Amino acid sequence: LGLGCATGAAALCTGPLLAAAFHRLSLVSIAANALGLLPGLAAIPVATLLVPFDLLLLWWIADLLAGATLAASHFFASLPFATAVIAAPGVIACVLWYSGVLLCARRAFRAALAPWALLAIVAGSRAAIAHAREGMSIVFLAVGQGDSAVVQLPGAHAMLIDAGGDLRWPGKFDPGARDIVPALAELGVHRLDVVVLTHPHPDHAGGLLTVLDRMSVGELWMTAERDPIASAVRARAAARGVPVREPRQVSLGGVRVEVLSRFEEGWSLNDNSIVLRLVHGQVAVLFAGDVEALAESELAQGGAEIRAQVLKAPHHGSRTSSTEAFLRRVAPECTVYCVGAGNRFGFPNLEVVERTPGAHFLTSEGAIVAESDGQGVHVHRWQE
Ligand SMILES: [Zn+2]
Repeated sequence: LGLGCATGAAALCTGPLLAAAFHRLSLVSIAANALGLLPGLAAIPVATLLVPFDLLLLWWIADLLAGATLAASHFFASLPFATAVIAAPGVIACVLWYSGVLLCARRAFRAALAPWALLAIVAGSRAAIAHAREGMSIVFLAVGQGDSAVVQLPGAHAMLIDAGGDLRWPGKFDPGARDIVPALAELGVHRLDVVVLTHPHPDHAGGLLTVLDRMSVGELWMTAERDPIASAVRARAAARGVPVREPRQVSLGGVRVEVLSRFEEGWSLNDNSIVLRLVHGQVAVLFAGDVEALAESELAQGGAEIRAQVLKAPHHGSRTSSTEAFLRRVAPECTVYCVGAGNRFGFPNLEVVERTPGAHFLTSEGAIVAESDGQGVHVHRWQE
């Protein structure tokens, strides 16, 4: 019981710090510490005996006990509801949390618990209401060498465009668990109306399986592409009951989502990327996927409007994209390049940056935010 109380107290005191650093709250830490630590604690006296009596049997017992603690921690971490992904708590939330802990700890203060709880509920609901937004906000996440953007629309609608990135499939790291799901929690996004996979490359799909596992998703848009990544994504969507659809024009929270691309049998995966133009009042944002010269020339010569104040640079600013004719018609005021720091491809290409008009932002320097009020758009780094 004492061990349980001690780990409970530790969890209460470290909770906000861990949430701020890792966007996670452990739901099993008390049980894991109380039960899992027991063999580890028992290993300490055995290990102490090793100093005077260096016996093989003692080594064996100490190893077994320490191994049992490790196995227990792996077991608790593997439980389906071991952790909850949450937003980093603000200063007010931390003050409320620790004052609540103090109130519980000191018997003399317990009379103040009821007004404190009321205050906590008011502050909590204010934070929840703050997420219902008027404008459109897009966050181009820093996911390394890959693409992922969260689009928040008026009326608590949200989209996720791609869930990269890693250069291999399956990748060494899961950008879904590492970056995207925590970022969605931080932004207060609990449901995604639409998730878009522009094309089935690992730097766009790397974290998609985790997103499908952990988020409530209305529908998944992808092209008719048949390849191992597309098949894996389709299978996971089916397992999660998420309908897979071809992209189509929709209106979400008053924002028009236009589909500018078409699927062409025989084109490369890059040129077959889904290209979306989001129109919010006077503001347009163009998500160009990884299209290259071929698809760009079709977009530049087509009848559809492709002009946009903000351009998600096609193919990470590669030399094979952002052709003159395409850029002339888009005429961006601001271009966002989704690139990893020090990537081995040299993205974005210097010539591309030079021939692209307007301001330039790189996700290798941190997440980039574009906020539209329907009249104009303000693009800045997440922290500014
Ligand atoms: Zn890519």
